[in-house]
Amino acid sequence: TIYLDHNATTAPAPEAVAAMLHALEVAWANPSSTHEPGQQARRLLADARDRVASFLGCQPAELVFTSGATEANHSAVLGALHAARGTRRERLVLSAVEHPGLLALAARLEGEGVPVTRLPVHADGRLDLDAARAAITPDVALVSVMGANNETGVLMPTAELAELAHAAGTRLHVDATQLAGKAALDFAASGADLMSLSAHKLHGPKGIGALVVRKGFALPPLLCGRQERKRRGGTENLPGIAGFAAACDRAAATRADDVARMAALRALLETGLAALPGVQIYGARAPRIANTSCLRFGMLDAELVLGRLERAGVVASSGAACSAGGTLPSHVLLAMGEPAEHARAALRFSLGRDSSEAELRHTVAVVHELIGPLLEPAAQAA
Ligand code: PLP
Repeated sequence: TIYLDHNATTAPAPEAVAAMLHALEVAWANPSSTHEPGQQARRLLADARDRVASFLGCQPAELVFTSGATEANHSAVLGALHAARGTRRERLVLSAVEHPGLLALAARLEGEGVPVTRLPVHADGRLDLDAARAAITPDVALVSVMGANNETGVLMPTAELAELAHAAGTRLHVDATQLAGKAALDFAASGADLMSLSAHKLHGPKGIGALVVRKGFALPPLLCGRQERKRRGGTENLPGIAGFAAACDRAAATRADDVARMAALRALLETGLAALPGVQIYGARAPRIANTSCLRFGMLDAELVLGRLERAGVVASSGAACSAGGTLPSHVLLAMGEPAEHARAALRFSLGRDSSEAELRHTVAVVHELIGPLLEPAAQAA
C-alpha cells in the first residue's frame, strides 16, 4: 500500500516502539511511587520530558503530558475560560477551520452562553487578519488558532496573532499538531501562551500528546490530581511518553532533510496531477506545510476517487466527514467559500518522511490511468 494519509496518523518509528517496549517491560512502575522501581520510572519520565521540551523549544516545567491534542485543546480552552472567570474577559476567538473537536467544544460552550467569534479565512485558506484585528479585543479570554490546517496544510499567522492577543491583554493558544515534524517548533520564540501537540502525527504512539503552558500562567487543570505538578491528574502514560520522546529525537535529527524531500515530492505530485483537466489545488499559493496537498478532480466525488485509488493500492483521505445523513462537505473548504459540491469533491494527499519518489510517481500514473478518463475536458469549466 502507498500510504498518503500522514495527516491522519503516521507509523510509529522503530525508535519509538523500542522505547515503549522498554517502558512496558522494564520501567513499568508508578512514577509517583517512592520505592526504587518507582524512582526508575520517575527518572525515565523526567528524561523524556527534557527531550520533548527540547524538541518543542520550551522549558521542561512548561510541558504537561496529555492524552493527545484533543485533550490539550480542551484543557487550553476550558482552562483559559476558567482562569478568566469573574473578569470581563469571557469571549472565545477561534478560526472557522479549527479541528472538529475544538469547533464542537466551542459550539457547546456557545450553547452554554459563552460568546464565541469564529474568524473567517480567505479563498486560499489563509486566515483573515483584518477580522482577527477586529475580533481580538479586551473582552477576549482566549484566542485559539491552529499552526497549520490539517486538511489544506495552510499555515496560520500565529506570530501576528500573538501580537494582537498580547496587545489586547489576552492569550494565544496554538494547536501545533500538524506542524510537528513538518516545521521548526520553537515555543519560546512563538509568542504563544499555550501549545497543543499529538505524538502520533510525528511517528510516535497514539493516545499521548502535550500541552505547553507558558511559565507564569496558572492554568486550571481539566483533570484534577497531583500528577504533572497538579496540572494533569492521572497516572502518567509512561510507555506513550517514552515513545513520544523517542519520536521527537528522531524527528529533530532529520527534520530539515525530511521537509525538503517532502516538498520536492509534493511538487512532483501536484505537477503530475495538475496536467489533468479540471484539477484544482487548494491553498497552492498560500504558505503551507510541505507534505499536504488538498485538491479536487473536477466535480468527481471524493469517495469515488478514493475508492478507485485504494483498489489500486493508494490510500489518501477526504476532508468530508461521514454522518448518518450522508457525507458532509468539509467545513474547511466551505469556510474558504467553496460551494458544497466542490467541497464534497476535495481530497487530501499527505506525505510522510518515508514517502518515496517511486511512490509518488506511481500515484500520479495511477490517477492518470484510473481517474483521467472520468475527467471530461468540459470539467475544466466546473
Ligand atoms: N488538532 C489537529 C490540527 C489535528 O490534525 C488533530 C488530529 O486529528 C487533532 C487536533 C487531534 O489529535 P488527537 O486525535 O491525537 O487528539
